[in-house]
Amino acid sequence: MTLVCVSIVVEDLASALADAQAAKRAGADLVEWRLDGFFSGGNDPLDFARIVRLVSESPLPCIATCRPVAEGGHYDGDDAARIALFEALGAATGPGSHPPRFLDVEYSTYVRSANLKQKVNLAVGHPGQVRDLGTSLVLSLHDLAGRPSDLTRRLLAMGAEPAAAVVKFAYRARSLRDNLEVFEVLADNSAGRPTIALAMGEFGLMSRVLAPKFGGFLTFASLRESSATAPGQPTIEDLLRLYRFREIRRTTAVYGVVGWPVAHSLSPLLFNSVFSEKRTDAVYLPLPIPPEYEHFKATLLALIDDERLGLAGCSVTLPHKSHLVRLAREERAAGRAWEIDRFADLCGAANTLRIARGPGGRASGCEVLNTDGPAAVGLLARAPIRRAVLLGAGGSARAVGAALRLAGCSVAVVNRTRARAEALADDLRTIAPESAAEVPTMESVDASAVPRLDPDAIINCTSVGMTGGPDPGGFPFDLAALPDGSRRAVVFDLVYSPARTPWLTRAQALGHPVIDGISMLAAQAAMQFPESTGLGCADLFDRIARAAVRVPRT
Ligand code: NAP
Repeated sequence: MTLVCVSIVVEDLASALADAQAAKRAGADLVEWRLDGFFSGGNDPLDFARIVRLVSESPLPCIATCRPVAEGGHYDGDDAARIALFEALGAATGPGSHPPRFLDVEYSTYVRSANLKQKVNLAVGHPGQVRDLGTSLVLSLHDLAGRPSDLTRRLLAMGAEPAAAVVKFAYRARSLRDNLEVFEVLADNSAGRPTIALAMGEFGLMSRVLAPKFGGFLTFASLRESSATAPGQPTIEDLLRLYRFREIRRTTAVYGVVGWPVAHSLSPLLFNSVFSEKRTDAVYLPLPIPPEYEHFKATLLALIDDERLGLAGCSVTLPHKSHLVRLAREERAAGRAWEIDRFADLCGAANTLRIARGPGGRASGCEVLNTDGPAAVGLLARAPIRRAVLLGAGGSARAVGAALRLAGCSVAVVNRTRARAEALADDLRTIAPESAAEVPTMESVDASAVPRLDPDAIINCTSVGMTGGPDPGGFPFDLAALPDGSRRAVVFDLVYSPARTPWLTRAQALGHPVIDGISMLAAQAAMQFPESTGLGCADLFDRIARAAVRVPRT
């Protein structure tokens, strides 16, 4: 079982102990006392006594760490004082006091001199130790710049130290690909010891969450977002509740959302909640990939090719939706087993990648789909729609417009930049409707022309109304301009943050039936990975999304 350790920066003893109690209640197995901001580095016996008391009163087994500045900590005193503290902790065996379960000492410190090594060895249990000590040594290595070029050599050297009970290494990940090497080291047991292997920073979350899949000894979490002791550390709440860390095992299927930025995506909450309700052995992660196509291609192909990771699929969001189709076309042209569904091909943009795997986890085929358009049309199909106005000419307008056109609906595109509306209408006009008694129209118009079109639906595919967007309080179209008879027109807003946009609130007040962006988010998500979420689970996604953003169903 991979342990969960909450790392606590010690500033004063009372609040550190209160935090440790909270960590225990939250489900942690251990706490790490980060002593580097607390221990002054002098030889004050009172300092030692306070820290011995902290360790003795720890409500969970603990790791004592006093990390120096060079390895990402705050301690800038000398090594001798630090090691004297560890000796005092190791010797704390009197009534009412006990030593820490682990001492964390950097390998660079440990091998600096025979004297330091000997002192550390005296404080911990190991095969050469004559006393029966309850403290074990974690030998650690941190590189804040990136993967050390001689990582394998150093791991072997650390693992070869007889006193090392656990080997730990952490380095800053510079892309998602850096996690793959972490997994390789764990799965191959390269250090020959129980190993804590972590990638730091925003790209490294995967290494922390998936540690149990690859046999990691332990992962670190913070009690709250503001108290993370290393970049990219998840909170214990997210680790245990959102990512269901305790249920991750070797067989767990990995999914995620690829985008940039992606940290605030609702998708991990949606999919992990659905996996939890359906008891699916799967986990869903944010997968940040920088915006350039070359990053996207190199990273995604590396993740797909990694048999151990066994990536089962991903949602793909901005700015990579068109990149996914481009990649699929390139891979197909190179003779590899990539399929693009007709709709994604028509749109030139896709939001879903499904990966089939054969024996040994080898990727045997990739399927690229766009569920945005079919989801929108599915929602609109609840009322008969023959004429729709599409507001916007970006990626989502293209997907919704293409799906409406295929379904035989006439569409008028309105956009701030008229030339883009015209270009979109020209493109969509080339799509042959699948079913229509007469050929539907496809045109670009000014907003002033909308009232006389008497549309059945007006669909906002702009980012107007979106929190943090260009015009969060604005309306993409003035509904009051519609003649009275148009009050039956369905008003559909793709924006889902906030769930109830100012425009939708206005539409409801005017008596229009409305569809919100959460319905769309749920419908398109439910179509992405039915093999893992179950078929027809849009209602479940919808319920979870609404609970997350606390909004009633429309
Ligand atoms: P996009 O490709 O960037 O297109 C943005 C569109 O908004 C463009 O037509 C742009 O007009 C227009 N726009 C931006 N600022 C404007 C302003 N101040 N006034 C008028 N028009 C403005 O974005 P997208 O991917 O299509 O996404 C659009 C929205 O839909 C986003 O809020 C996104 O979150 C949402 N969405 C939701 C779902 C869902 O599942 N609910 C799915 C997809 C998208 P110009 O051409 O003039 O720049």
